[in-house]
Amino acid sequence: MDLIRTPSETRPGKMAPLARLPVFLALEGKRAVVAGGSAAAAWKVELLSAAGARVDVYAETPSDELLQVAGDPPRGAIAVQRRGWTADDLKGAAVAIGAFEDDDAAAAFAASARALGVPVNVIDKPAFCDFAFGAIVNRSPLVIGISTDGAAPVFAQAIRAKLEALLPKGFADWAAAAARWRVALKASSLTFTGRRKFWHLFTAHAIRNPDSEPAQSDFDRFVAEVQGLGSAVENGSVTLVGAGPGDPELLTLRAVRALQSADVILFDDLVSRDVLDFARREARKMLVGKTGFGPSCKQDDINALMVSLAKQGKRVVRLKGGDPMVFGRVGEEIEALRAAGIPFSIVPGVTAATASGAVAELPLTHRDYSSAVIFITGHQCAANTSAFDWSALSKLKATICFYMGVRRLPEIARNLLGHGMRPDMPLALISEATLPTQQVHVGTLIDAEKLSANLAGQPALVVIGEVVRLSSFAARVPELHERASLP
Ligand code: SAH
Repeated sequence: MDLIRTPSETRPGKMAPLARLPVFLALEGKRAVVAGGSAAAAWKVELLSAAGARVDVYAETPSDELLQVAGDPPRGAIAVQRRGWTADDLKGAAVAIGAFEDDDAAAAFAASARALGVPVNVIDKPAFCDFAFGAIVNRSPLVIGISTDGAAPVFAQAIRAKLEALLPKGFADWAAAAARWRVALKASSLTFTGRRKFWHLFTAHAIRNPDSEPAQSDFDRFVAEVQGLGSAVENGSVTLVGAGPGDPELLTLRAVRALQSADVILFDDLVSRDVLDFARREARKMLVGKTGFGPSCKQDDINALMVSLAKQGKRVVRLKGGDPMVFGRVGEEIEALRAAGIPFSIVPGVTAATASGAVAELPLTHRDYSSAVIFITGHQCAANTSAFDWSALSKLKATICFYMGVRRLPEIARNLLGHGMRPDMPLALISEATLPTQQVHVGTLIDAEKLSANLAGQPALVVIGEVVRLSSFAARVPELHERASLP
């Protein structure tokens, strides 16, 4: 029976509630009004001028700080009127900032501004504010604003300091170069996908070399590189990524990077949803999984989908449980990608066997007990199958890891016993290794069937070999630790 499931799309989770909406006001050439002449007002005047606003300040007694800023404005002109504000002064302003000790004065100012539809902020009086100023990391044109919704300004400042240390000053130059080059690039012969490739090259270079001065030669080199790709640039690419055994902490850095730059993610059932959280929110996430013997997408359909998405110029991540090269049918996918001329790369992952070894504290190899590890599939273990040399398997001084073997465990045990393996050979079943739901069951080959009754269809690995004796879980099994010496 071959049940077919069409790929199903996973909608991104709902946006979590947001305390504040960060917006970045364009103030260049616009008029900003500041009422009050304190030092705090002076600092806001400086900010507004730096953002390019023409700032009109109304202050009967301007502080020295204010006069100093007004005398040497960072960008937009600053005009100080030595009088109190009037409602007329607020007309046509893009923003209004007030500095008042007195709540009545603050309320009057806010009411006038709001009546005219001018967004207002009264310093340190949240009740009279339509917006707040965040802590700022300035790499203009790259700007980062930080808000804690007023909860903890000191915390925000600490985060600002951390980001300051983290973001090279040179990012400002690269962001400025991007603004210039955006225009030049539009005028070039590159297509939309070619330009997108350009920005990927640009970004990779800027992040790696933040402190180098962006030069025309960089621009030319990126353009030439894109042109050198010819029509291949219109193609997307596929990254075959190992998602590891379940715990997202076991993703590789490269896997995370691939997830974060993917347009589309095709994932298997085995991939935990926590891992998918590392993808961009906007990425399409499609389940194309095959669960044991349950309904599944046909491999050919997955291959065709992958190729067609890449041909549309998408960056596709094919996300597989564990390592993609281990029982992942990756061979067929690679063949399909090669045949279609789609560029691809492969990101290894932590496979179930090594993850299981770690969680059950059982070394897969050991100088005394096991000099080989066998990864073997339990799918092809029917009693009369000739797929395996059971006799050789039974006699090797090796650790045997059966993937997809729990359902067939009675047959596996019968075959091994029938070919001379000792009935008291230690055996471990590790299900959902590295997930909070993981289970480890340890016993002997003769008890295999009884042990597997503990599981109800979870993915699990069967490990058979003397090394199982070394697992901390073996200490609870009398048959295993009673035998002090090994053959
Ligand atoms: N490519 C995967 C294996 C896919 S085959 C890898 O490298 O791990 C699917 C089988 O892997 C399951 O039937 C089970 O035997 C094993 N498996 C996958 N994840 C597992 C986990 N977290 N714990 C135990 N076994 C797992």
